[in-house]
Amino acid sequence: MTSMYDEFNATTAVTIASLVESQHANTPGQSSYAPGTCAQCTPAGCAQKEWADKILAEHRAAREAFRNRTS
Ligand SMILES: [Zn+2]
Repeated sequence: MTSMYDEFNATTAVTIASLVESQHANTPGQSSYAPGTCAQCTPAGCAQKEWADKILAEHRAAREAFRNRTS
C-alpha cells in the first residue's frame, strides 16, 4: 500500500536540505533571523541544520561516486 510519505524521496529531501542550508547562509539581509541562523536555532545548535548537513553530505558523496564511476 502506498502512502503519501512514499512521495518524500531523496530528491525532495535534498531540495529541502538546500533550503535549510540557504537559510543558514551567513549573508546579512537575506534572512529575517540573525545571519547564519533560523527559527529552529538554539544556542546549543540546530536540529534542522544537523538534518540538512547529513542529507547534503550523503547527497554530495553519492554525486561524487557517480562522477567517479568507471564505465
Ligand atoms: Zn537553524
